[in-house]
Amino acid sequence: MHPHTTNTHGLHMTPNTSTFENPTRASDYFGCMTFSGDTMLKRLPSDVFAKLQKTIIEGTPLDPAIANTVAVAMKDWSIEHGATHYCHWFQPLTGITAEKHDAFLSPMTDGSAIEKFSGNQLIIGEPDASSFPSGGIRDTYEARGYTAWDCTSPAFLLKNPSGITTLCIPTAFVSWTGEALDKKTPLLRSIQALSKQAMRILRLFGADKGVTHVVGTLGCEQEYFLVEREQAELRLDLMMTGRTMIGANAPKGHQLDDHYFGAVPDRVLAFMAEVESRLFELGVPVKTRHNEVAPSQYELAPLFENANIAVDHQMITMQVLRMVARKHGFECLLHEKPFAGINGSGKHNNWSIATSTGVNLLDPREETHTNMQFLVFLAAVIRAVDLHADMLRASIASAPNDHRLGANEAPPAIMSIFLGDMLTDIIDQVESGKPKKTKTGGALDLGATTLPQIPRHASDRNRTSPFAFTGNKFEFRAVGSTAAVAWPNTVLNTIVAESLDFLAGELERKAGRNPSAAKLETAVKAVLKDVIAKHRRVCFDGDGYSEAWHKEAEKRGLPNMRSTADALGAFRTKKARDVFSRYHVLSARELEARYDVLVENYCTVLGIECRTMVQMVRTQVLPAALRTQEELATTVSATLAADVDCTETQNELRAYVGMVNELRNAVTDLEKLSAKHHKDDEAEMRFLRDGVVPCIARVRAACDALEKVTPSDNWPVPTYAEMLLMK
Ligand code: ADP
Ligand code: MG
Repeated sequence: MHPHTTNTHGLHMTPNTSTFENPTRASDYFGCMTFSGDTMLKRLPSDVFAKLQKTIIEGTPLDPAIANTVAVAMKDWSIEHGATHYCHWFQPLTGITAEKHDAFLSPMTDGSAIEKFSGNQLIIGEPDASSFPSGGIRDTYEARGYTAWDCTSPAFLLKNPSGITTLCIPTAFVSWTGEALDKKTPLLRSIQALSKQAMRILRLFGADKGVTHVVGTLGCEQEYFLVEREQAELRLDLMMTGRTMIGANAPKGHQLDDHYFGAVPDRVLAFMAEVESRLFELGVPVKTRHNEVAPSQYELAPLFENANIAVDHQMITMQVLRMVARKHGFECLLHEKPFAGINGSGKHNNWSIATSTGVNLLDPREETHTNMQFLVFLAAVIRAVDLHADMLRASIASAPNDHRLGANEAPPAIMSIFLGDMLTDIIDQVESGKPKKTKTGGALDLGATTLPQIPRHASDRNRTSPFAFTGNKFEFRAVGSTAAVAWPNTVLNTIVAESLDFLAGELERKAGRNPSAAKLETAVKAVLKDVIAKHRRVCFDGDGYSEAWHKEAEKRGLPNMRSTADALGAFRTKKARDVFSRYHVLSARELEARYDVLVENYCTVLGIECRTMVQMVRTQVLPAALRTQEELATTVSATLAADVDCTETQNELRAYVGMVNELRNAVTDLEKLSAKHHKDDEAEMRFLRDGVVPCIARVRAACDALEKVTPSDNWPVPTYAEMLLMK
C-alpha cells in the first residue's frame, strides 16, 4: 500500500495528494485510511475476523468477547499511520458530527507510559450528554449519555491539514435512559423496520432464498459553492450564517447557461482532485464532479452504498469539502441559498432498497408489467409518499431550505412523485386491473451515419419534481445541501416500511402466506388496483414550478407547506407518533424531542440572521452610505459655491438620502421585532415566518438598492460579481 510507507527514520510519510504529481493509482489507496476489508483481514485472527464480518454483513449481535482483540489491532494500525488519539464519532441532533478525542497514551505508576485501547473503550464511550440538544430528554443536571460502536460502518483515520491524525469510530449516541439522542440510532432502526417488512413481500414471492435481510441503498449528490476565503472573511453574513444576507445581483447570473458542465477552472480542479483523493483514502467512492448551474457552483456525487455507510460518508464528505477548501484558499459554502437571485444548492438523495444478495428491488426490468414484485414495491412507495407527504416535507424542513422550497425554485414544497411515461402507463394499466404491456423507448436516430444509434429511455427526465423515479431508484431532490441525510432517510424508510407492512398484510389476507403464483398474481392485481386508485393523486409528471400545478395540487388535496414553520407540525400528529412507535424507530418522547430540536434550530438560525443583519447594517452599510451621502452633499455645496446649476446632483442626493432613511427605518423595525419573543413554539415560528422573515427581506432590499448606486470604493463588503464571477 503506497501512501503510508515508513521512511528510513521511522517517520510516517504522508501521501502526496496531488494526482498530477502522484503516479499512484487511486485504486491502490482507496479505503487505506479505514479499518475494513483487507486491513481487517490482515490484522485480525481469522476467527475474530469471521465473527465480526458476520455481524457487519448479516447483522447478527456483536460478540463482546472479540472486542479486545479488535481494539488492539485497530490501535496498532492507527498508531502506525500516525494517530495519537481516538474518538467516538457520532451524529447528535445538531445536524453535524461530534467527536471527543482521547489519547492512546496511558501513563503508568512507574513514570513510564504505554499506548492502550481496550475493547471496552472501543465499544462504549461516555460523553457528557447535557451539552447536546436533547429536546428535553435530558436536563442540564442529567448528564449521562453513551456512545456505542457501530461496527457496520468502518472506523477511519481523519487527518487534518496540520497532519494530526485521529482514529474516528462511528457510534450511536443514546441517553442514560436508553433514548436516542442522535440521528444514527433511529436510522438503523428504520433500516431494520424496512428490512423486516420487505422480507415479508419477498417471502410471498418466494424471492427470499438466500436473502438474510434487505438494506437501503443511498447515493447523495452534493452541490456547493466555492468563493475566495479572503473575500468570505470580509463578510460577516457568510461567516455567521453561511449565506449572503445582502448583495445586489451581478449583471450576469446563469442567463447564458455557460457554467453548467463548463470547463472546471484550474484551481477548482486542483481542489476537487485533492477532495477526491482524501475521500478515496477514507473509502468514500466519489465518482462524478462538474460545474453546476450557477457561477462558482459545483457538484460532487459518489457511487451508492449501503444507506448507513452512505450517511456516514456524506457527513465525512461535507467535512472534507470544507477542510480542503480552506487549504486551497477557498471557502466551501454548503448553504442552501448562499446567493439570492441565482440557483441554490440541494443534495439529491438517491434512494432504493436491495436484498442482502444485491438485487435492487426498485429495478423495473424489461416487461415491467409482468414484474409483480416490483409493482408491489413501487405501490408501497407511492402509498407512503401520499399518506405521509407532510412528514416527508417536514423531514427536510430547515430555515435555509425555506429559501429553495416554496420560493419558486427547484423543487416545489408540494411533495409529488414523478414516474415518467413508462411507469405512468403501467400504473394506468394496474389501475384498470389488467396490466398488459410495457412501453419501450425505441432507438434515437441522430441523422448522421457516423454517430451511433442510441437506445432511448422509456421516460424523459423531470427536473422540477421533488421525488422522481430515475430508472431504478427514487431521487428525493428536496433535501437541502447542508442537511444531515440520516433524518430524511429515517422518515422515508419508516413510511415505506409501514406501506410494505400494509401491502404484505393485504396480500397475505387475500392469498394466504404460501400462495401459488397464480393466486398471488390475482391478489396483487386486486390490491394494487385499489392502492393505485387511492394514492396516485400524489403522482405528477408536469412542471412542478407552474402556478397551474399549485392549483391542481390543492384540488387533489396535497399539502403545500411553504415554510418550516408550516411543516414541522407534521411530527406532532398522532399519525406520526403511531408510525414511528409502531416500527420501533422513535418513541413518542424521542419524536417530540426531535420536533423540539428542529423548532429551536429554526428559531435560533433566524435569531442569528437578525443579529448579523443588524450588525452589518449598523456598522458597515449605514456608515458607508452616510459617507457617500456626505460626499454628494459636499459636491452639491461646492458646485453651488461655484455658482453652477446643481439641480441634478441635488435630486440625486435627495433620492440617496431617501434610500438611506428607508434602510435606517427598516433596520430599526428589525431590531424591534427581534427583541420580541413568544413562549409558545408554534406562535414563535409563525411570528418569525410572518414578521421577521419579511422584515429581513425589506432590510435586504434597502441595502441592495443602495449598493447599486453607491461608489464601489465606498461599498464595505465584496460584491456578488467579485465573489462569483471575477476569478
Ligand atoms: P442521475 O441523477 O443523473 O441519474 P446517476 O445515475 O449517476 O445520475 O445517479 C446519481 C446518484 O444515484 C449516484 O450517486 C448513484 O450512485 C446513485 N444511485 C444509482 N443507483 C442507485 C441505487 N440503486 N440506490 C441508491 N442510489 C443509487
Ligand atoms: Mg441527480
